[in-house]
Amino acid sequence: MSEQVSMSKRVEMKQRMCVLRTGVRRTGVRRTSVRRTNVLLLAALAFWSAGVLGCRTINGSRDRLGLPEGVVIFSFDDGPNHFEDTTVRLLETLEKYEIQALFVLLGENSAANPDVVRAIAQKGHLIGSHGYSGKWAVWMDEKRFRDNLIRWEDAIGAALGEEPQIRFYRPHGGFYTARQERIWRDAGYALVPVTARAYDAVLGEARREKAVSAIVAAVEKQRGGVILLHDARDSLAVAEKRLAQDPVGPFNRSWIPGAVEEIILILEAKGFKLRGFDLFSILGAIR
Ligand SMILES: [Zn+2]
Repeated sequence: MSEQVSMSKRVEMKQRMCVLRTGVRRTGVRRTSVRRTNVLLLAALAFWSAGVLGCRTINGSRDRLGLPEGVVIFSFDDGPNHFEDTTVRLLETLEKYEIQALFVLLGENSAANPDVVRAIAQKGHLIGSHGYSGKWAVWMDEKRFRDNLIRWEDAIGAALGEEPQIRFYRPHGGFYTARQERIWRDAGYALVPVTARAYDAVLGEARREKAVSAIVAAVEKQRGGVILLHDARDSLAVAEKRLAQDPVGPFNRSWIPGAVEEIILILEAKGFKLRGFDLFSILGAIR
């Protein structure tokens, strides 16, 4: 018993290290220079921490994941978001270009926006789990992690009127442990990694062009892959307070639909395939 306790303490310590070493400060950041430093630190240390500290990240490469060359998949984390109708406008953009996407929803934000969850499903997009809570998954012990998955299913089930059938998962915060992976695998979920990201969750609209070009560059470099953007940021209850303090800061996601349209047009012009494939099969075949 005491051995078990010390083991779980060690695991918890390790999880905390994973996050602390990234240098990410999610609150109180206003100055652009600080934000830029955060983005760089997060990008560099996400890869580094995976090897050195034993926690894993959602970052992957198209080649190694077995994703088809030339195919581009859009995925959106943390939604749905009712602020300035961000998610609804994003749905309109995707519909305009007949693009099917994966929405990795937070249970907490889904419970606050059941109509938008239904709209996402009705428009034919896939819904994946980001867990219930707006707190980072890697901070959770095993029990909380498991409860967080189940609570998510309840929230989505309540919104859709039926248990979610599709079991894709991506940990909120982007980091996870081997034990957590075992829990979601046992629950029948498959991880959806990311190959193209701009760490947009820490960017306000002033950095929109930077985000667009980072995504386009990553897609070009890997000749396709899975794009990650955020139509919401953490729990909407927290976001509301942060927006009051900093209306144009990173908690304001209203620029995402416009940025997505820009990315679509650029990637289409470069000959990438954005539609007309079976998204479910491609994500299900990720190795
Ligand atoms: Zn997230």
